[in-house]
Amino acid sequence: MHRIRLDNTVFEGLNNVYVLDDGPELVLIDAGVALPEVHEQLTEELAALGHDVADVDRVLLTHWHSDHAGLAGAIQSASGATIHVHEADAPLVAGDEASLLEERDLQAEKFREWGMPDDRREELSEFLGDHMDLGGEPCEATPFVDGDRFEVNGRTLEAVHLPGHAAGLTAFHDAGADEAFVGDAILPKYTPNVGGADVRVDDPLGSYVASLLALIDLDPDVAWPGHRDRIDDPAGRAATILRHHVERTRNVVDVLRREGPSTPWAVSAALFGDLHGIHVLHGPGEAYAHLDHLADHGVAERDGTRYALVDDDPDVASLFPDPGIDRVVEWEG
Ligand SMILES: [Zn+2]
Ligand SMILES: [Zn+2]
Repeated sequence: MHRIRLDNTVFEGLNNVYVLDDGPELVLIDAGVALPEVHEQLTEELAALGHDVADVDRVLLTHWHSDHAGLAGAIQSASGATIHVHEADAPLVAGDEASLLEERDLQAEKFREWGMPDDRREELSEFLGDHMDLGGEPCEATPFVDGDRFEVNGRTLEAVHLPGHAAGLTAFHDAGADEAFVGDAILPKYTPNVGGADVRVDDPLGSYVASLLALIDLDPDVAWPGHRDRIDDPAGRAATILRHHVERTRNVVDVLRREGPSTPWAVSAALFGDLHGIHVLHGPGEAYAHLDHLADHGVAERDGTRYALVDDDPDVASLFPDPGIDRVVEWEG
C-alpha cells in the first residue's frame, strides 16, 4: 500500500489517496480535488509507483466531498474504473441534478435558519459557487451499504458506515491487517466538521458521536485518514474528539447563559470569531449541531432562529456517552 499526498488549498490541507497495488488489481481509496494541476500530480505520483491512471480498476470513496471524490470522474473516464461510494452519497458523486439542487436548497434554508446575515450568506454562496468545479465531472457511481465487502488483492475491506461529517461517510476496515481507511471520520489534527460539511445529516452531532463510538468499538490498530498522517491509536483519538465535543457543548451553554437566546450564527461568532471562506459554512454549522443536540435533549429550546436554555445549569457530560477510554491523542507535529 502506498500513500499519495495531493495539494488542496481550499479545504483541510493535503489530501491522502491510498494506492492498493500489492497484487493484480490497482485500487485507489479517495481521489483529490478536480483541478488540472492536482490531476497532473496524481498522474505523476502514480507513474512514480509504476502505474498509469488508465490502469486503475476501482476507486473506493470514503465520502462525496470534492477533496475526496473530485477526480473520480476523470479517473473513470481514463480507465473505465468502477467508483464505489455509500448509497447516501452516490447521487451527489454521480452528479444527479435533483440531488445536487436539493442539497443546495437545503443549504440555503439552513443558512437562513442559522441566522446568517444576508451579506455573509451571499459571500458564502459565491464561495461555494466558485468552488463547484472542484467536484469534477460526474461519474457512474456504484453504491454500497454498511457491511459490504471488497476483495482487493487478497485483502478484505469491509464498509463501516460512520455518518456525521457526511451522510455517507464510510471507513474501509481490513480486519486481517487490523487497519482502517477512515476518510474524515477522525483526523489527527482538528475535529472534523459536523453540521456544516453536510447539511443533509439529521441530528449531526448525535450521529457523529454514535460513529465515534462505533470506531472505538472497532478499535483498529491503525487508521489512515483523509488528511495528514496515520493515526496510531484510532480509538484513543476518537475518544479525544468525543471529549472535545463535550467541551464545546459546555462552551455553547456558556454562550447561551451569558448572551441569552442566540442564533447559531451568533454562537459561532462568540466561539470562533469572524470567519471567512469555507469556515463561514463550518462555524455556524458546528454551532447549530451543538444547539440542535441540546434541543434534542430538552436542555435548550428553539424559537425561530434562536435557541434559549431551558435548564440554566445542565449536566453536559450526561448528554454524551462515556467513551470508556481515558487516553488523550492530540496532534504532535
Ligand atoms: Zn470531508
Ligand atoms: Zn476531507
